[in-house]
Amino acid sequence: MDKVSEDLSQVTDSPERPVLDLSGTSKEDIGNIVHGVRENIQSVSYKLKQIDLDRIIEGAHKMVDSNLVDGETLRGLRIITFDSDYVYVCTNGEHASVLDCEVEQITSVDDYGFKVYKIKHTEELGRKNSDYKGGTALICTKEVFDTAVDKDTFVKAGGYETPKTIFIPPSVKFNQLHKGKYDYDSDLIFHETAHVEEMSIYDWPNDREVPSFPSEEKINDFEGKVRSCKGIHRDVIDVVLGHLDRATTGEMYAITIERAAKNMYVPDKLVLHDKDIATDIASVAGFSKLSAKVLNSSHRKASILSLALEEVIPDFHERKQWLQSLLRT
Ligand SMILES: [Zn+2]
Repeated sequence: MDKVSEDLSQVTDSPERPVLDLSGTSKEDIGNIVHGVRENIQSVSYKLKQIDLDRIIEGAHKMVDSNLVDGETLRGLRIITFDSDYVYVCTNGEHASVLDCEVEQITSVDDYGFKVYKIKHTEELGRKNSDYKGGTALICTKEVFDTAVDKDTFVKAGGYETPKTIFIPPSVKFNQLHKGKYDYDSDLIFHETAHVEEMSIYDWPNDREVPSFPSEEKINDFEGKVRSCKGIHRDVIDVVLGHLDRATTGEMYAITIERAAKNMYVPDKLVLHDKDIATDIASVAGFSKLSAKVLNSSHRKASILSLALEEVIPDFHERKQWLQSLLRT
């Protein structure tokens, strides 16, 4: 994978658990360099377009139709996109105005039960190109949290009760920044929603300091299954398993669903993903310079493991249920 995809996974692999303030991420200097050009903070004045709204609604419908994401995950899910002034929340959940924050419902409830709310935000969000490069899961801005009223759909993550949210950039801006390399639905909507799903199952910090699965027995179960894969050299599997951590487990769950979505809607993108994984496997096998990069990226390790699991448990739903059973404490 190239620099940009590594950037995407850095943004996507949010190690932080839910916070009510996105300003921390916005201060990261790394994001101020996009495609080699240093930009000034507040240099972006993107205004959300109708097509951006249409794309998140379409993505919500695809998730319902595909049956790749659990119904419970979709109940009260917020698919949120934004510009520098507003967040746009596509949900079957409920928002209502509060004292300091007005909520406007801008579409009527559709056949799938979704509508879109427009809410002014006060975050440092949407003002730099780096804000538009990747998505996050279960991170909530103050206004979204304060106006959400269907508390029965909230999940506990990182010790907080929080609405199920994914924050994803508007499609036009995202595709412009990545020159169409990524698929908006599978790489963002399905992938981030899968993170909501896995983090709801397994409420542990999503970082490198905790075990990959909740018990030694489950870790052994997982490793035994992956080692039975024939298509990837045993040495490569062993090296990757030697670098297994909670962040990689979370990514593997997300990528399992992301790849199933690619298979369903954009099979050509699945072929490209397979090629990226093959390159990474070769670099780990050859201990090339790239192998350290692969082993440092939870996203890339998880992609290799997801491919191994596809061979060992070919049926998607069986594979997903098995992973869920391992993640449950
Ligand atoms: Zn991810």
